[in-house]
Amino acid sequence: MDADVIIIGAGLAGMSAAHEAVKRGRKVILLDQEGPQSLGGQAFWSLGGLFMVDTPEQRRMRIRDSHALARSDWMGSARFDRAEDANPRKWAEAYLDFAAGPMRAYLSALGMSWFPVVGWAERGGGLATGHGNSVPRFHITWGAGEGVVAPFAARMREAEAKGQLQLNFRHRVTALDYHDDGVEGVHGDILADDDAPRGAPTSREITGSFDLKAGAVVITTGGIGGNQEVVRDYWPRDRLGMPPEHMVTGVPDYVDGKMQLTAERAGAHVINRDRMWHYCEGLKNWDPIWPGHGIRVLPGPSSLWFDADGVRMEAPCLPGFDTAATLKRILQTGHAHSWFILTQSIIEKEFALSGSEQNPDLVAAKWKAVLKERLGKGATRAVEAFKEKGEDFVVARDLDTLIEGMNRLTPEATLDPAEIRTQIEARDAQIANPFSKDAQIMAIRSARAYRGDRLIRTARPHRILDPKHGPLIAVRLNILTRKSLGGLHTDMQGRVLQPGGQPFTGLFAAGEAAGFGGGGYHGYNALEGTFLGGCIFSGKRVGEAV
Ligand SMILES: Cc1cc2nc3c(=O)[nH]c(=O)nc-3n(C[C@H](O)[C@H](O)[C@H](O)COP(=O)(O)OP(=O)(O)OC[C@H]3O[C@@H](n4cnc5c(N)ncnc54)[C@H](O)[C@@H]3O)c2cc1C
Repeated sequence: MDADVIIIGAGLAGMSAAHEAVKRGRKVILLDQEGPQSLGGQAFWSLGGLFMVDTPEQRRMRIRDSHALARSDWMGSARFDRAEDANPRKWAEAYLDFAAGPMRAYLSALGMSWFPVVGWAERGGGLATGHGNSVPRFHITWGAGEGVVAPFAARMREAEAKGQLQLNFRHRVTALDYHDDGVEGVHGDILADDDAPRGAPTSREITGSFDLKAGAVVITTGGIGGNQEVVRDYWPRDRLGMPPEHMVTGVPDYVDGKMQLTAERAGAHVINRDRMWHYCEGLKNWDPIWPGHGIRVLPGPSSLWFDADGVRMEAPCLPGFDTAATLKRILQTGHAHSWFILTQSIIEKEFALSGSEQNPDLVAAKWKAVLKERLGKGATRAVEAFKEKGEDFVVARDLDTLIEGMNRLTPEATLDPAEIRTQIEARDAQIANPFSKDAQIMAIRSARAYRGDRLIRTARPHRILDPKHGPLIAVRLNILTRKSLGGLHTDMQGRVLQPGGQPFTGLFAAGEAAGFGGGGYHGYNALEGTFLGGCIFSGKRVGEAV
């Protein structure tokens, strides 16, 4: 035996599992195919948003949340409808207990703290019993993704120094070592050292091999979002039609999904692989880190959203409301892009970009820096850089010139300026109407009733064609691959199950590789912040079980 536990994948789920296992006196080996510069995996790049319920941050913002409301929102979003959803549903229930219970204190004791303005992500499909967050619940960690990774990374280094944990980087697992009694270890390739910057592709040159044995093996190798071939293979054609020809990639290329296939070949059960969470607001990064690098716009509610044919999309396909419904709606045009049309006033107040590297003020974790960046003149520096250098942006003083620029970007789907103008003018006419039948204008008014949104996320309502709020801005939005919602089927201890339902002795899984718990605890829709949350929670559970 080389250790009590081998954990494959040093992302957030792997570190969370290692942390708990080490606390219980287990000797752990944590392997990763990447180098030490990538410790923390995707979580480092994240915005650090966590789904928590009924917290002091919410109460200070006068948000009344409860376990019952969060449960109702979750189940309305998940729409569990398959026999194999039994374990995912139990994981969802367990996560809700954690998120409305000890989660905040647990993370706070590790050293995390949260930006006081709680975000209102994924507002949903428009029905009280359906998808969406009834209240703001997206708690952005100070330090963004780095603020989530750092406390766990520090514990890994401490445990390593004490000899409780062995960190083996550039170790790529290619096979599980299993016999009739279950999994006994792993083997794989040692890859050449590579000092490429974090997130950039690294060499796959093999310099050796390894063979390690342990009583338990944990798979925390993440999802499939960095491997467009696998995303296309699993694409839910029955719900969304054919996968788009062009997508940008929202995760590094090590999120390759290969270990899931390796486990499946060994007899593990992968479920709900057709459930995925890709975004509609992807920008091609002008300064890419990984191949095909896309950045997601986290939009406030005011940008007008047109499909590729120039038709303004109806509710719930509004910015920040219903990711899955909007994806379906966009793809129905036969094109993979859509358009935001907005004003300078809107971009300044409402455009945020997902990812720690796009939010240096949150990473710096200083209130003053945040206020200066978010409430100062202009949009944030990261957004202004995209406006200036990003190939998806068009800026113009008048609508005709704007549309000319848009048509130059998408000659395969040109827009009729008269039709766009009619729709914008009709929407603008409703701004002065205190009643209004325009669902988006109602949504803007509802957002501004929340003081967090009014302060930093929602522009004062105005006419799009009012030159005082110009220039006009159009943004071509691409589909951006991100998360797998399905994964390895696990029971409540995180034990990987076989297709017949019996546990695969010695094999565990957590994090995105396990659909964040059970093989897909989100069902069909996510409420956001539940990915990092699910990695921490499922990793913790597995660390307590091995
Ligand atoms: C830009 C961005 C923003 C995000 N923002 C948020 C947010 O605000 N809130 C939220 O909840 N979620 C967010 N997410 C999602 C969240 O970060 C991920 O779902 C989560 O971090 C996944 O963690 P993981 O540990 O399961 O997997 P990963 O982080 O993918 O780690 C898996 C690790 O396994 C290694 N590995 C893979 N295969 C092998 C192998 N065969 N052998 C050895 N090692 C292997 C990989 O190299 C990697 O280091 C965001 C993601 C991104 C990219």
